[in-house]
Amino acid sequence: MNARILDGTCNPWFYGDVGVRRGKVAFVGSLRNFEAGETIDAGGRVLTPGFIDMHTHYDLYLFQKPRMVSKLLQGVTTIGIGQCGLSPAPVNERNKEILDQYIGFIKAGTEPDWKWNTFGQWLKRLESLELGLNVFSFVGHGTIRLNVMGFENREPSGAEISQMKGLIAQSMEQGAFGMTSGLIYPPGVYACPEEIREVCEALREFRGLYLSHMRNEGNQVLKSVMETLMIGKANSIPVHILHLKVMGHQNRGVMKDLLHRLGDARKKGMDVTADVYPYTATSTTLRAMLPPWVQEGGIGALLERLEDSYVRRKVIDEMRVDWQKENSLRNCDGPSGILILYAPETPEVEGHTLQEAGEILGLRPLETVLEIISRNNGKDTAAYFNILEEDMMKALGSPRVMIASDSIPAVEGGRCHPRSNGTFPRVLGRYVREKKTLSLEEAVWKITGFPASRLGLAGKGFLKNGMDADMVLFDPDKVIDRADFDSPSAYPEGIDRVFLAGETVVEKGYFCGPCLGKVLRKKHY
Ligand SMILES: [Zn+2]
Repeated sequence: MNARILDGTCNPWFYGDVGVRRGKVAFVGSLRNFEAGETIDAGGRVLTPGFIDMHTHYDLYLFQKPRMVSKLLQGVTTIGIGQCGLSPAPVNERNKEILDQYIGFIKAGTEPDWKWNTFGQWLKRLESLELGLNVFSFVGHGTIRLNVMGFENREPSGAEISQMKGLIAQSMEQGAFGMTSGLIYPPGVYACPEEIREVCEALREFRGLYLSHMRNEGNQVLKSVMETLMIGKANSIPVHILHLKVMGHQNRGVMKDLLHRLGDARKKGMDVTADVYPYTATSTTLRAMLPPWVQEGGIGALLERLEDSYVRRKVIDEMRVDWQKENSLRNCDGPSGILILYAPETPEVEGHTLQEAGEILGLRPLETVLEIISRNNGKDTAAYFNILEEDMMKALGSPRVMIASDSIPAVEGGRCHPRSNGTFPRVLGRYVREKKTLSLEEAVWKITGFPASRLGLAGKGFLKNGMDADMVLFDPDKVIDRADFDSPSAYPEGIDRVFLAGETVVEKGYFCGPCLGKVLRKKHY
């Protein structure tokens, strides 16, 4: 009682009370004749629906940390997985090993049992974990392609297209919330726009969402946006751009153009949205810097090729010149703009820039990249400082863009991008209170009602009668992230209480259980 209620719409907050019965919101309004077992005085702090983080790579990390305390402490009560083309299902016996290798950089030391094949079996396996929050999943195009074609760099045959479409439809029927693509990673990178358009036909009957980690997020970003829009238009399906950004300081101002295009597309009746994380550094494996041809056949084949000094030289030459007219180094203004986060076999370079890592290993920067990839068997992550804050803030303020973290897990005590543990308090503290980039109402809507409506998360995202009582109580004057690149797991401040299905699961910054998380499945009517 006595809370400033933000109901997950963009309505202005109002003072009121919320009643909870059997895990659901029983009323929102003024308390008069409600007999309660327990009453909590909010003291004028803000009460909102539980936050939804629709973009994480915690698929396998859930086995290691099923309670997801780092998310709950931020107020997140529901997470999405299966992002950027990567999902652990569907998978067949033949491809389990290469899929396991391929998604090594999101395993963070987890060794899953791989006791599933179909998407439905995978969701069941997740259900057997003691989940601290709700989980839903997309199905990954990369995983689908790998099932049918392995890591082959070629066009699919007609029969292979049909097979892929069959797997997508089956996964949608078994509860996927849409299909994601990762068009910079193999095997997604081997698929041309036409192939993506064709396999997305499988989404049409569900009006399923197509979400894309686009082919290019730098100099060619506008072209990539057009590709994404084309796929939506051709199939009459909604589309979504993942972690919207414009990389490369040379592309100052392109974000404004890009947001205009999204607005224009919507005016023409095209259903397009995006998500963004509130940081100026991106993060992924160093392999994302390599030309696609050298990665054909998976990690094993890549590592073998990199043993050949001729191949190494060729790769370095291509990286230097501009493969696909892009250059990760230039986008970061040189090797000092890349920070090595995770490289377990070469711990001496962790926490150092690529420039420093080169000095430590006695190699030039691009040679250092190949050396780290080789010595760590591709299990590395790095941060790239290649986004301008002013551009990111434009995306943050756009009514078409929701907020999500793009979390990549770290091993215990290891480094990761702070977005995993700071995104939500950072938006509320730094970008609402301090920089006034967006209003509190807008920010809360972008992490509750907006993703819930967009994705069709039934019962989530709003504080209204009958909705699930997943809620967050926080102090808008104090809420702030504490995670940074030096202490990426530091807990946020100002999130006072988190409720899941009506039960308090976080109090005064500590997880206190119980584990009431559910696996959510998309329903088709
Ligand atoms: Zn991505």
